Amino acid sequence: MINPSRVAEIAGRIRISTSPEIDAAVDAAALAQRAWAATEVEERAERLERIAQRIETCAGELAQTLAREVGTVIPMASGELKTAATLFRLMAGHARTDLLRRQEITGEDARLQISRRPYGVVACIVPWNAPAVLAAQKVAPALAAGNAVVVKPSPFAPLTVTAMLTEAASELPDGLVQVVNGGADVGGALVEHPRIAKVSFTGGGTTAASIMRAAAARLTAVHFELGGNDPAIVLDDADPQQAANGIIASAFCRSGQICYAVKRVYVPRHRADAYRDALVAAAERLRVGDALDPRSTMGPVNNSAQLGRIRLLDERARAAGRTVLTTGTRVEPDAWDSGYFLQPALVLDAEHHDEVVSVEQFGPILPIVTYDTEQEALAMANDTVYGLGASVWSSDIDRAMHIAAGIESGVSFVNAHVQSDLALREMPFGGVKQSGMGWENSAEGLGEYLQFHSVDAHLVTR
Ligand code: NAD
Repeated sequence: MINPSRVAEIAGRIRISTSPEIDAAVDAAALAQRAWAATEVEERAERLERIAQRIETCAGELAQTLAREVGTVIPMASGELKTAATLFRLMAGHARTDLLRRQEITGEDARLQISRRPYGVVACIVPWNAPAVLAAQKVAPALAAGNAVVVKPSPFAPLTVTAMLTEAASELPDGLVQVVNGGADVGGALVEHPRIAKVSFTGGGTTAASIMRAAAARLTAVHFELGGNDPAIVLDDADPQQAANGIIASAFCRSGQICYAVKRVYVPRHRADAYRDALVAAAERLRVGDALDPRSTMGPVNNSAQLGRIRLLDERARAAGRTVLTTGTRVEPDAWDSGYFLQPALVLDAEHHDEVVSVEQFGPILPIVTYDTEQEALAMANDTVYGLGASVWSSDIDRAMHIAAGIESGVSFVNAHVQSDLALREMPFGGVKQSGMGWENSAEGLGEYLQFHSVDAHLVTR
């Protein structure tokens, strides 16, 4: 693994899992799962809480690894580990409240019993952009529900996940948590494995389609958390500075490499200059540099493909006649070419159908589009195959919530976006349309790893 802040530096090495190793991992997980499912819920919950403590204890070291392999600046990397730990604690709570609730209805001549059961072995396939929290979002509920997991991190960011789950495994019965490493081949082998009962995947839509095709062979259950093209709608009563600060923080957090980052901004035409100026001023304050440098507020992009893609989007927007403003400052101008660095860019006069508006750019380039009416803004916000997140910015919360209610997304924010630590707010997170299938976090997130078992028993009368 290359450190994206210093591409000449190896962040770490990992061995690619072989086919027999994948089989062995799934078999060991299947063996451990039976006893785990039969373990008292209280004991499972206590073990999850111990995992949370363990992750917290080594969060400092894991955050350094995360910064080195992903390019996430240290405060954000530390926050990610803290959230990952908290997810285990929250899921322990949900296990206690939701799993112990067994419904029984007894009548005169019949008895009905409804209980919930785990799937068995769940394959958890995660991307590179926020690997620790995205793995925890799957592993914590899957384990709480009584499943075993085989986790496949991204080949761009396997180190933190592998280290974090090694810590988790030490609090659990042997074999219950497995990690296999590699790329599409290893992920594919896992999806096709006959003992995998469910695939929980976070990543891109094209990969999800491949997984769905492979899973179809055995009708394996799937759960998808996919890409987004989140709109931020600024209403004309929003304070320019407040809205701009929040939008810029959301759009360029992790160099724009978050599924639910703000990816396009809609501002009212009659106040466009005020909002554009405020957005530029906020973006100018970003300092781009080595993720481990405390002066950096934005790190590099993760890999050379990302760098190439964003540069191309920038070039094409300029070639189409758009005004692309490069903002922010370089922390160490001399070290600029030794990392995958990009300064945050704003496309000041984007049109709704521009490429940079309609694709999930997943990087530090943000288009600003003007609108004439709120209905038009809403129509443009919804005019996409994606439906992950969205935000409305206004000084009038009722007005903003009215607009938010019309957005086709899994989650909509008002006067916030990425800065809402949604994993901890205990609301279901997921996408509609091509942004996903299924939900993470909260009791609904636990439910994704459970099936129902109903017993309808009838008394026999002689
Ligand atoms: P990706 O789809 O390329 O890879 C994700 C994972 O799938 C990796 O571990 C990869 O090795 C594996 N994989 C690739 N091909 C596979 C195959 N055929 N079978 C099984 N596994 C396979 O995504 P990425 O580039 O790592 O991440 C970026 C994408 O993830 C973006 O679209 C982003 O929006 C999305 N994402 C979504 C969420 C969410 O919660 N909705 C969160 C983070 C990222």
